[in-house]
Amino acid sequence: MDEDAHDQDSPERTPTVACSRCNHEWDLEYELEELHAGNSAVEQFAMDHYRHTGHYPDDVTPFRVDCQQCPQGEQFLSERPARRFAKTHARHTRHAVELTTPDEDTETVQQE
Ligand SMILES: [Zn+2]
Ligand SMILES: [Zn+2]
Repeated sequence: MDEDAHDQDSPERTPTVACSRCNHEWDLEYELEELHAGNSAVEQFAMDHYRHTGHYPDDVTPFRVDCQQCPQGEQFLSERPARRFAKTHARHTRHAVELTTPDEDTETVQQE
């Protein structure tokens, strides 16, 4: 058989996400077909995985936002909502909020 034919038959390969803690790999057909997650299918999967298992799949590291003065804290998979959460929390509560990027850079956000 011609092995090249395989690649041409599947121009839109379903993306997959692996988790070494679960020792499993998933294709994202559900996210794409049922949730219409499109480009954010990986993000959607990662958030659901965290919600249900308490950890993120491989290659996904969130932005973490932690208030230094109260138990408020959230995790985000992109910088914009993380920054917005930190800023609004600081704005409404006047608390200092720590923002940690996936590279482990930390930054303190506070109301000026
Ligand atoms: Zn897992
Ligand atoms: Zn706070």
